[in-house]
Amino acid sequence: MRIPLVAANWKMNGSREFAEQFFSALNLDGASCEVVVCPPFPYLPLVAEKAGEMVALGAQNLSEEVSGAFTGEVSASMLLDWGVRYAIVGHSERRSLYGESSEQVARKFVAAQTAGLTPILCVGESRQEREEGRTLEVIGRQLQAVAEVAGSDGWKCSVIAYEPVWAIGTGVTATPEQAQEVHRFIRGRLGDAGATVRILYGGSVKADNAESLFTQVDIDGALVGGASLKAEEFAKICRAA
Ligand code: 13P
Repeated sequence: MRIPLVAANWKMNGSREFAEQFFSALNLDGASCEVVVCPPFPYLPLVAEKAGEMVALGAQNLSEEVSGAFTGEVSASMLLDWGVRYAIVGHSERRSLYGESSEQVARKFVAAQTAGLTPILCVGESRQEREEGRTLEVIGRQLQAVAEVAGSDGWKCSVIAYEPVWAIGTGVTATPEQAQEVHRFIRGRLGDAGATVRILYGGSVKADNAESLFTQVDIDGALVGGASLKAEEFAKICRAA
C-alpha cells in the first residue's frame, strides 16, 4: 500500500509575502495524500512555521558534500536542521542548466539518504530522445547511475519522479498511458523496493489533468511546478490524489 504524495516545486519563485499568503489560502480539507512543499532555500524556515502539520518540508537541491569549502552550497545536515524531510535531486533544470551529471546526482541522492532525508530523484527524457524511441533506455541509464552509487538497497527510502523534459512548463502533459508505461518500467527497475517506493509524475500537472493521471496503477502522485504556486489549484491536485 503506497500513500500518494503530491509535492510542490516552487522553483525560483516566491517571496516572504507570497509564502505567507499561500499558506493562509491553502485548504487541504478532503486531501488524504502526503503533501510536500519545496520552496527556495531562504524560505524554508518561514514555510516550516506557516505550513502546519499536514505539509512536510522539502528542498529543491542539496550539496553532495558533507561540509567545508563549497561556497554557495547547502548540505543535507543543514536542511535537516531546519526540519526538512525531502530533497529533490537530479531535476532536469539542474542537469541541463547547471551541468549536473548523473554521477553527481547519484552522490546527492546518497548524501540526502545518509543524513536521513528522503531524496526525490527526477528522471526523464528529452523530446528528441522520445522521438527517437529511446525513452526507456535513457531512464534506465539515469536509474542505473544512482543504483551504482547507492547500492541495491538504495531505493528503499526514496521517491522517484518521472518528469519528461518536454512536458515541463510547456502545458503539454504526457498522456496517462504514456506516463504509466514509464512508471511501470521504473518500478520494475527498483527490485524489492518497487512495491513500496512512490513514483510521481511531473510535467504540466494541473487541477484538470491530475485525476486522470492518478487513476494509473503505477502513478503514486505528482511533482508540481507552475500549478503549485496557486494554493487553490494545488489543493485540488492534492484532493485528486
Ligand atoms: P511544471 O508543473 O511547471 O510543468 O513543472 C514541473 C516540474 O518541473 C516540477 O519539478
